[in-house]
Amino acid sequence: MRGVYGNRQAQLRLERAVQGDGISHAWLFTGPAEIGKTALALEFAKLLQCTGRDPASGEPCGECLSCRKVSHGTHPDVTVIEPKKGERTLKVEAVRDMIRLASLTPTEGRWRIFVLPDIERMALAGANALLKTLEEPSPQVILLLTSSEPEVILPTVLSRCQVVPMLPLSPDEVSAALAERWQMPADEAKTLAGLANGRLGWAVRAAENPELVEQRTHELDEIASLATASRDERLRRAGALGKDVESARRVLELWALWWRDVVLAAGGASHLVMAGELRARAERLGHRIGLNSSQTFLRALLDAQLALEANANPRLTLEVLALDLPTS
Ligand SMILES: [Zn+2]
Repeated sequence: MRGVYGNRQAQLRLERAVQGDGISHAWLFTGPAEIGKTALALEFAKLLQCTGRDPASGEPCGECLSCRKVSHGTHPDVTVIEPKKGERTLKVEAVRDMIRLASLTPTEGRWRIFVLPDIERMALAGANALLKTLEEPSPQVILLLTSSEPEVILPTVLSRCQVVPMLPLSPDEVSAALAERWQMPADEAKTLAGLANGRLGWAVRAAENPELVEQRTHELDEIASLATASRDERLRRAGALGKDVESARRVLELWALWWRDVVLAAGGASHLVMAGELRARAERLGHRIGLNSSQTFLRALLDAQLALEANANPRLTLEVLALDLPTS
């Protein structure tokens, strides 16, 4: 699909779905935050509503009135249901409003489509109300849900959806998207893609907010400097970074992002993801500790991510890593 980047497998599945006979009434796009789940859901909505599509093709035409309305967010039969501004959870009233709207026939499209991003933010009463719609779907309604935490979704909701797993994008996919769609100069796109960790949504936000880039560079810098800190200093900083699960999760993700470059450098690769000083540090460390040590520590980082998801103590997890960190 022209309007979305990465996750080709997921795209193909949706393209095939519209070419087949029946279409499922509920889809759930899963994967980390800001990788383009809602963007893909909206592109799918465009594909479903397109009136100019070649029936043999899995692409929306992009030119018919319907496609243009979906692109501009003005299609009366494609509704995005989100929490109110300033609120974190989607209230049950919003779900009830949606259900009322779902009982009406589409105004101009073939389907009445609702896009519900991050449904883990839905209050339990809302999820129960939604379940009713999933159990007895009206033939013209299609629900497109997204979630970065599918494990907290009611199993009864999950089991009624076609689940479309999505992954972070590769740095090349992110930089290609930034250059093509957002007309960013190639060098700038590459640097930003290195920091984005596969999250195009973050990269697009960061392109407009230089402070996001500064903040991430600073965080990576802190992590990179652990490798040259004393044992006591490493322990102290690891304790501070692992003050809660949220913060530890974030640190581990960035740590693994930078450490992949250490492994690449140790293996003699030249296609590192980072730029500037962060890249130089990864190269120095990689050359110094070698491939074996750097790979062992990357595995430890990935294991720590799994352990954290299985409720390991965040502070302890980071402290153990800080002590295992190969220095020189
Ligand atoms: Zn179209």
